[in-house]
Amino acid sequence: MTRRRKIYEGKAKILYEGPEPGTLIQYFKDDATAFNAQKRGTISGKGVINNRVSEHVFTRLAHIGIPTHFIRRLNMREQLVRQVDIIPIEVVVRNVAAGSISTRLGIEEGTPLPHTLLEYYYKDDALGDPLIAEEHIACFNWASHEEMQDISAMAIRINDFLCGMFAAVGIRLVDFKLEFGRLWEGEFARIILADEISPDGCRLWDIETGEKLDKDRFRRDLGGETEAYQEVARRLGLMPEEGEGAVLDLVSHRLRKGR
Ligand code: UDP
Repeated sequence: MTRRRKIYEGKAKILYEGPEPGTLIQYFKDDATAFNAQKRGTISGKGVINNRVSEHVFTRLAHIGIPTHFIRRLNMREQLVRQVDIIPIEVVVRNVAAGSISTRLGIEEGTPLPHTLLEYYYKDDALGDPLIAEEHIACFNWASHEEMQDISAMAIRINDFLCGMFAAVGIRLVDFKLEFGRLWEGEFARIILADEISPDGCRLWDIETGEKLDKDRFRRDLGGETEAYQEVARRLGLMPEEGEGAVLDLVSHRLRKGR
């Protein structure tokens, strides 16, 4: 078997060279990190769930006209994506105060924000991904003014869509992180959504109970990470329902036995 060329290994994913030029294979690991990789661990089965959840979300976003890097899922842990130049900015969209905004500004966790807030962080592990202003993005030429207009407009549309999608399954979308890339088409580049959208990069709270169904279970040592990720996938209709699996097992057992 020929070994695939590894292009990049991040904290939760590996990128391999894709089968055609301009494509990559995105492999989802079970590894989890928090607090700029000071805390490390694994969440069993996370990669499989995130691959599936991200496929679902990116496919639905494509249906509403958001251009994304996603091409198709290849197997349990891998998806084929378009190769892009990643813009070195993490876009955080917030609907409710939690995490760093609560600690930085002293706003109680769970306080709904009067309107959706967009924040930008400079993607640099050595610097701990510092919070930046749009002025820094322009000053250091990380993205043009036009590109930032596309990015912010897409982030707001994505938030509107995802708030509805999660609310429909009893989940409150508190905040989440997006990454964008430049897709080159000849001389021109356009901005498309890249990376992943999964419980690793979102805060998802049960609407009724406030239970956390995301990576905060790992960050804050709450336990039950795998079950929480599974619950998100189950509510989105991505897991075989209890009973359905059992019925399928019974059917395949009977088929094997010729009954
Ligand atoms: N986030 C992420 N990667 C990062 C930083 C943040 O996916 O490197 C996500 C995080 O999961 C949360 C949102 O962005 O849903 C806002 O994170 P916050 O700024 O509150 O930082 P944290 O509390 O996660 O350190």
